[in-house]
Amino acid sequence: MNKLQDILEHRHEYARDWKKRTGGRILGFYDVYFPEEVAYAAGVLPVRILAKHSEDFLTDRLMYGNCYCTRDMLNQFARGDYDYADGIVSVESCQWHYNAFDTTLIEKPELWSHYVFTPDYTDARTSKNVMRSELDLFRRKLGEWTGKEPGDEDLDRAIDVYNRNRQLLRRLYELRKFDGTPISGSEAMDTVLACQVMDKAEANELLEELLEETESRPPREDCVRLMLIGSETYDAALERIVESLGANVVIDDLDNGTGYIMRDVTPQRDRLMAIGMRYLLKPHSALKDNVWRRRPQRIWEFIEDWQADGVIIAKQIYCHPHGSDMYMVWNLLRERNVAFHTFERDTTLPYEETALGIEALINIIKPGMTRLRGQEV
Ligand code: SF4
Repeated sequence: MNKLQDILEHRHEYARDWKKRTGGRILGFYDVYFPEEVAYAAGVLPVRILAKHSEDFLTDRLMYGNCYCTRDMLNQFARGDYDYADGIVSVESCQWHYNAFDTTLIEKPELWSHYVFTPDYTDARTSKNVMRSELDLFRRKLGEWTGKEPGDEDLDRAIDVYNRNRQLLRRLYELRKFDGTPISGSEAMDTVLACQVMDKAEANELLEELLEETESRPPREDCVRLMLIGSETYDAALERIVESLGANVVIDDLDNGTGYIMRDVTPQRDRLMAIGMRYLLKPHSALKDNVWRRRPQRIWEFIEDWQADGVIIAKQIYCHPHGSDMYMVWNLLRERNVAFHTFERDTTLPYEETALGIEALINIIKPGMTRLRGQEV
């Protein structure tokens, strides 16, 4: 287990320790459209609220019909797992994220809270100005809360730290483009998730170390290379099942994967506009890819660039953004003769049931592969 994986596993302990060390405040957020840079510039640590399966006696009553990940976000607040969070913030995104935010505030009214409207029509002419004005309001609200409104120098520092983090994570993803990639899909996903729950400056130091170590590893045995598409995930359980079957997830189209690490903030004098543009132009989720439909082309480019032999589509039960976008993904994959397996996931991933479908996919792919028989096409 690398150090970042260990932090992900013990993320609540890490956050409590960070608070003790720095005396800073912690702000929980739900969605990758949250412009973390602005909060970080104010000296606040943004921590992504991630589901983690545990006993749940509450959410059936309060969030019936919501996807499991969001229900568990509320559950963890009710259990006290996030007792270190000083506030929570929601952005305009999936309605179940908003429901988790709203319901958590009913349970925990003492939390500071804010809502950032990130335009759904990211391509609209007015969206950039709307986004900028939302960030300006958020900056002022943070100033009232913490006593110090972040200025240009603070924003520059945050932009540098966040861009560096995305660049390092992209380097890790680049290593997975080659046969015999030195890093498994589960280790890569754990690492990306760890960066979402910790101080990015600290994460960057650990990432530098990890990259150096990873790049000197011997190549892994070549195997079936898979792409993972679908609803956001909160652990690498699925990647581990794939690995137990002798295959590897080498690339994803997930909000918490490539959706988090692709595209940097391009610096400009108007820092808030620069940050806003990054979130309006990043690879869009199934929910926000709604005007120019860039997602199909992007998925195809990922398949080609990372040489994926097949695709797993994993959708959370009750995930409406991916439920409605899945037809487009199916059409794309069928048109291009890419083998795929679709399934719905719920609270846990039962091994036998999940492995059976993936094994069938691997068995469909393998006979057509010359690479694994040592023959170049
Ligand atoms: S996008 Fe899907 S998985 Fe994510 S919160 Fe919304 S419904 Fe749940």
